[in-house]
Amino acid sequence: MTDVTRMTAAQVAGLISKGDASAVEVATAHLDRIAAVDERVHAFLHVDREGALAAARAVDEQRARGEELGPLAGVPVAVKDVIATRGIPTTAASKILEGWKPPYDATIVQRLRAAGTVMLGKTNMDEFAMGSSTEYSAYGPTNNPWDLGRIPGGSGGGSAASLAAYEAPLAIGTDTGGSIRQPGAVTGTVGAKPTYGGTSRYGLIAFSSSLDTPGPCARTVEDAALLHAVIAGHDPRDSTSIPQPVPDVVAAARRGAGGDLTGVKLGLVKEFAGEGAEPGVLAAFHESVEALVKLGAEVVEISCPHFEYALPAYYLIAPSEASSNLARFDGVRYGLRVGDDGNRSLEEVMSLTREAGFGPEVKRRIILGTYALSSGYYDAYYGQAQKVRTLITRDFTSAFERVDVLISPTTPFVAFPFGSRTSDPYQMYLADLYTIPTNLYGGPAISVPCGLSEGLPVGFQVMAPTMADDRMYRVAAALESAVGTLTPPSLEARA
Ligand code: GLN
Repeated sequence: MTDVTRMTAAQVAGLISKGDASAVEVATAHLDRIAAVDERVHAFLHVDREGALAAARAVDEQRARGEELGPLAGVPVAVKDVIATRGIPTTAASKILEGWKPPYDATIVQRLRAAGTVMLGKTNMDEFAMGSSTEYSAYGPTNNPWDLGRIPGGSGGGSAASLAAYEAPLAIGTDTGGSIRQPGAVTGTVGAKPTYGGTSRYGLIAFSSSLDTPGPCARTVEDAALLHAVIAGHDPRDSTSIPQPVPDVVAAARRGAGGDLTGVKLGLVKEFAGEGAEPGVLAAFHESVEALVKLGAEVVEISCPHFEYALPAYYLIAPSEASSNLARFDGVRYGLRVGDDGNRSLEEVMSLTREAGFGPEVKRRIILGTYALSSGYYDAYYGQAQKVRTLITRDFTSAFERVDVLISPTTPFVAFPFGSRTSDPYQMYLADLYTIPTNLYGGPAISVPCGLSEGLPVGFQVMAPTMADDRMYRVAAALESAVGTLTPPSLEARA
């Protein structure tokens, strides 16, 4: 039998439903692959071998009883460690949550279990999802399978690297400013940020509540759509969850794979043309635009004049919300507690705990956010940033009166070497130049591989109107049908 770790999720699900492979065989192959390569990749913070095999056995039993299996039954999935999993360590890659085992599952985890997927473990990330390289994990970085000396993107670098290393066919990420799409781009995988409110935030450790969006990561557009369909949909436990049916993303991906984009209007964002992007990234992007035109799409240049203020607005809004959300890590309720020797005040223990438990980037955000929200400054900073957010939303809505989707490169640069951007936080923030506007607006966006620059993957971003997630899948699948998927150099050859 062909190596199941190289197959798509759709192929693996097909094997299992036909009885050509058992879910236990599939889980074992992936667990063995993790055991063989993860020491070098470090995509996982925790591998749940027993749990995965038990879930796989349950699927095999279901099949043996003749019960109907879901579309992803028996398919392994890796879950970003910012998502609560009952009884399984969940740290958000922070020392402050070391050893915490949540007493409940996030809604998306419940849905993954109900669909019969097999959770392999929890993936590495930047601490509390703050970063673009996974270098801010308190447990050490993840290495990009394309080049182990380079970053896998962030914050969800572990999820993306687990796919590129063939440790898992599917993974879950969260996107606050680009953390699903940017790692997808630099690892040559697919990452989709659903419409904000389209996937439940219940059980997601909050970073910036008005932006946080869980979503699917995969090696193909169809696989991402299959996973999207399993996790999306209204959840009464999340007050911002949208009570509407999920667009048929799977049908849209399959339609797109047919390679016909006749009548589809693509908006090329003028403000993203050139600025700050590497020439190799722009070259791969423009070749892909040509490929889409050959499939019948029409390209229209669109001006979004306020996109240039997205980055500064985001870096006020996200830290402000983070400073409030992270106040709950006080050494009393969760995880780490430092200095509780009976002689110290509650305040001293809290302060020692937060000093020891949070890393430097998290502290920077808390300080920035607390300052921006402090009385006298609120209107000047947070208030202004919210006004910019409204203007960016208007740019999107007027653009979508003229075109079906907006397109851009996902990131201005390919995977960079470790340490090359950590000394200047602003250099790190620039990695999300093209992904952040969508988060401020709330619409869906997907990154799909579109070629190589200097031997490293380049991502193509498709942004769609809110609740039109199906549109971005159609265009992304069409592009994938034209340019193909990317295969990283073998890890074995680099032992
Ligand atoms: N890189 C951005 C940040 O550091 C986005 C992170 C994310 O999407 N979680 O805030």
